[in-house]
Amino acid sequence: MPDQVQGPQPPVLLTLLPGPDRKRVQRTYSYRLTYRNPQANAPGCRTIWEVTGGRLIYQIVLEQTAAGTLRLHCSCADAVFRAEGEGRFCKHIRGLLQFGLAGEQAVDRLQPRSCLGA
Ligand SMILES: [Zn+2]
Repeated sequence: MPDQVQGPQPPVLLTLLPGPDRKRVQRTYSYRLTYRNPQANAPGCRTIWEVTGGRLIYQIVLEQTAAGTLRLHCSCADAVFRAEGEGRFCKHIRGLLQFGLAGEQAVDRLQPRSCLGA
């Protein structure tokens, strides 16, 4: 297992997203950084965010391929069963991208990961 994020206060981001109920009433979702790869440009898992506020707790993984492409994967049902197959992001990933997650990396280099373990 890679090292967990050190320090007393891991970064937490808050945003409003349509909620999981049928009316899609906006509610607050929080993103907590639970892992960051200490090697900034190494291929593999770069960061893991834990998403709370929905029905379940989800995890968003930012992964860098050997070719340098960044991929985002969310563990929610929308991402796994729909969004990734359609080449779009689920609301959790879109919410996270509002914060400019990838910094110097252009968002258009990001793409949904097609399957787990790829
Ligand atoms: Zn999601």
